[in-house]
Amino acid sequence: MAAVLLARGGGAAARALTFGCLRQLHTVYQTVELPETHQMLCQTCRDFAEKELVPIAAQLDKEHRFPAEQVKKMGALGLLAMDVPEEYKGAGLDYLAYSIAVEEISRGCASTGVVMSVNNSLYLGPILKFGSEEQKHQWIAPFASGDKIGCFALSEPGNGSDAGAASTVARLDGNEWVLNGTKAWITNAWDASAVVVFATTDKSQKHKGISAFLVPMPTPGLSLGKKEDKLGIRASSTANLIFEDCRIPKANLLGQQGMGFKIAMQTLDSGRIGIASQALGIAQGALDCAVDYAEKRLAFGSPISKLQAIQFKLADMALALEGARLLTWRAAMLKDNGKPYTKEAAMAKLAASEAATTISHQAIQILGGMGYVTEMPAERHYRDARITEIYEGTSEIQRLVIAGQLLKEYRG
Ligand SMILES: Cc1cc2nc3c(=O)[nH]c(=O)nc-3n(C[C@H](O)[C@H](O)[C@H](O)COP(=O)(O)OP(=O)(O)OC[C@H]3O[C@@H](n4cnc5c(N)ncnc54)[C@H](O)[C@@H]3O)c2cc1C
Repeated sequence: MAAVLLARGGGAAARALTFGCLRQLHTVYQTVELPETHQMLCQTCRDFAEKELVPIAAQLDKEHRFPAEQVKKMGALGLLAMDVPEEYKGAGLDYLAYSIAVEEISRGCASTGVVMSVNNSLYLGPILKFGSEEQKHQWIAPFASGDKIGCFALSEPGNGSDAGAASTVARLDGNEWVLNGTKAWITNAWDASAVVVFATTDKSQKHKGISAFLVPMPTPGLSLGKKEDKLGIRASSTANLIFEDCRIPKANLLGQQGMGFKIAMQTLDSGRIGIASQALGIAQGALDCAVDYAEKRLAFGSPISKLQAIQFKLADMALALEGARLLTWRAAMLKDNGKPYTKEAAMAKLAASEAATTISHQAIQILGGMGYVTEMPAERHYRDARITEIYEGTSEIQRLVIAGQLLKEYRG
C-alpha cells in the first residue's frame, strides 16, 4: 500500500498538478527538512486535495454530504490505514506520515480530514494496539480500503470530558454481551460499518470497570440518532448511537475486561495528533487564502499586503502555524520512536487548534467583507476550526493533561 502511495506521488503528472500552490509547498518544506518519503507523500496528498477536495468542499459543506467517492479513493491510496502494517492491508507508514497526510487532506476539506482521522486513530488505532490477531484480521482489513469506515464511541449525553463516568452498560449473558445506553456526538456515525464502543462492565469499579467492545453496524439493538446540524465540519456525520439490548458475541471484547478506560485514553493520545494535524490543515488553508487575497486586493492605490498592519497579521499567523506544526511533528516522531508522548500530543492539539481558530479569524479580517461570505473559503475555515478546540478533549482538558504530566516530571 505504501508503494501505491509513493508511486503515485512520484510521477511528473503529479508534480505538474502542484503548480497552483507552490508558495504553500515551499512554506511546508521550510518548516523542517522532511525525509524524501514524507515529501513525496505530502505531494501526493496535496495533489489529491487540490484535485478532488478543494473544488467540492464548499458544496459538501452546504449539503452536509459525506464525501463517499473521495473516501473510497483515499482508501485506494492507503490514506485510511496509514500506520497499519501491510499484513493487515494498511500503508505501513508512520505517524509523521499520517500527520502530514491529515494536514494536506484537511487543507482541502476539514470534514474529510476528520473522517480520515477518526478511521485511522480512533477506530483502527485501538484495534491494532489491543486487538487479538483474529480481531485484527476481521476488523482492520475491510476498513483500510475505503469500502468501510469505523467510528469511536466514548462520549455520552451526560459526560464528555469526564469520560470515566460512562453510564452505558455491558452485561455478559451466556456467550453474548448485551449493551444498553446512549453514546453522543459520534463522528462518522451515519456512514460507519463498525464502532469501538466503551461501556461499563462493573459500575463499582468506576473508570476501572469500563471495557471496550467491537460492534458491527448496523446490528439489531443499535439505532442512530438524528444527524447533528453543526457549525462546521458539516460533511462529516455526527450522531448519537443508541444501544437497546444490543447483543454482540463474547469475542467482541477488545483487550481485557476493565481495560476500556486505558484503551480510550491511549487512543486519544494518538487521536490528538490527528486532530492537531487537521487543525494545521485548516490554518494553512486560511493563511493561503489570506495571503492570496492580500496580494490581489487594492486599497489606497496598492495591494493591502504592503500595509504593515496586514503584514503583522500575516507574520503572527505564520508564526502560530509553524510553531504548532513543529509541536505536532514532534509528538508524531516521539510516538514513532516508541517514546512517551501524552504531554506532547496534548500540547500539539492545544497549540494547533488555538492557532487554527486565531488564524482563520484573522483571515476573515484580512478579506474584509469577502471573508464573511460563502464565495470565499475563509468563512468555512473559521467554522471548521472551532471544533478542533472541543473534540478529543477540550482545550481546558489539554491544559489539565499538560500540567499533570509536567508536575509528574518535576516531582520525579
Ligand atoms: C462535532 C463533534 C464530534 C465529536 N466526535 C466524537 C466522537 O467521534 N466520539 C466521541 O466519543 N466523542 C465525540 N465528540 C464529543 C467530544 O469529545 C466532547 O464534546 C468533548 O469531549 C467535550 O465534552 P462535553 O461536550 O460533554 O463537554 P463538558 O465535558 O460538559 O464540558 C463543558 C465545558 O466544561 C469544561 N470542563 C469540563 N471539565 C473540566 C475540568 N475538569 N476542568 C476545566 N474545565 C472543564 C470543558 O472544557 C468545556 O468548556 C464530538 C463532539 C462534537 C461536537
